[in-house]
Amino acid sequence: MIYLDHNATTPPSPKVREFIKNELADFWANASSEHALGAQLSDTIKQDRQIIADNLGVSTKGIVFTSGATESINSVLSDSNLEAHKITKIISSPLEHHATLDRLKYLAKRGFEVLMIPNDGNGQLDLEFLKTHATTNTLVTLLSANNEIGTINPIKEIAEISHQKGALIHVDAVQAWGKINFNLEDWDVDFASFSGHKIGALKGVGVLYAQNIKSYLPLLHGGGQERGYRPGTLNAAGIHSLALAVQDIDLDKMNEIEKLRDYMEEEILKIPGCLINAREGKRLPNTSSIYAGGRSSREILFELSRQGIYVSTGSACSSGSFEPSHVLKGITNDLSRMNGTIRVSLNSISSLEEVQKFTDLLSSAS
Ligand code: PLP
Repeated sequence: MIYLDHNATTPPSPKVREFIKNELADFWANASSEHALGAQLSDTIKQDRQIIADNLGVSTKGIVFTSGATESINSVLSDSNLEAHKITKIISSPLEHHATLDRLKYLAKRGFEVLMIPNDGNGQLDLEFLKTHATTNTLVTLLSANNEIGTINPIKEIAEISHQKGALIHVDAVQAWGKINFNLEDWDVDFASFSGHKIGALKGVGVLYAQNIKSYLPLLHGGGQERGYRPGTLNAAGIHSLALAVQDIDLDKMNEIEKLRDYMEEEILKIPGCLINAREGKRLPNTSSIYAGGRSSREILFELSRQGIYVSTGSACSSGSFEPSHVLKGITNDLSRMNGTIRVSLNSISSLEEVQKFTDLLSSAS
């Protein structure tokens, strides 16, 4: 098997794999129980929270564990939290993940003003639009890095502009975590969302970060866990796996992966008709959005899949529908590019041999 779809999900990191093999079955207690078993687990989670907060460059106060980024994003964009911050306008981009876009569709129907920042066809956002439209009572919500085309948004600059205009900023940092160097304090964002399984933790755990946690109003109400900011019995195994996955992050290795990705793209560009989407500008080191020269991306995906090579035609979360990906629609009007693009996303376990096998097969399939 050659797995080249790490932006959809990535296998357990080495420490998480060991945890699954040796410890997972012993992680069944309730961390809120007052007896020793609960207290021990609660201590472990306290340490895990510290490891995760340190990695993100913030104090533990702003860290709330959730079930994943979809929940975190929906919590930031919840009616209660928007109302608490007197938000009436939201500025985003058509290139966001569906967790944001579908929530925004709902909010627009509920009377919120929703504005979309245009891009230059290479996924680079028009920050003049942001400067013109951000005001007080605005929440800006943007990706740190795009899951399909890999483009990186200048979050620090976006946060500065937003704050100068009196707006708040939420970043969907799912794809940046573990792939590029960043620090939440340096970004100076009000909210951020993360998913554990994208960095090698178990599925069903994520993080919501709020810079000023006391002003955050939760989506859920219940047993008071997570200081009331996210009630519900703690997913102790998931949280522990997240702290382990964080310890396995290796950004130096990502530099090597970038070289491998660049080599792969050079090989792909030798295939007649093939193009790399949004290649200009800053991109994630592991992601490549490949126009395969005119053949349907689904056909190519199935052919590669039959040979044991796994890529995707767009965001995995939306690939149940055969519509071209909204991200490709957002950067091009060219139907052939929309229907003929596959995404390859590597991680630190990807090898030169795997990439060569993929480019050889793509070459014969195109
Ligand atoms: N945001 C981005 C950029 C993503 O890539 C994903 C998952 O693909 C999500 C949000 C949603 O994450 P999850 O499905 O883990 O909740």
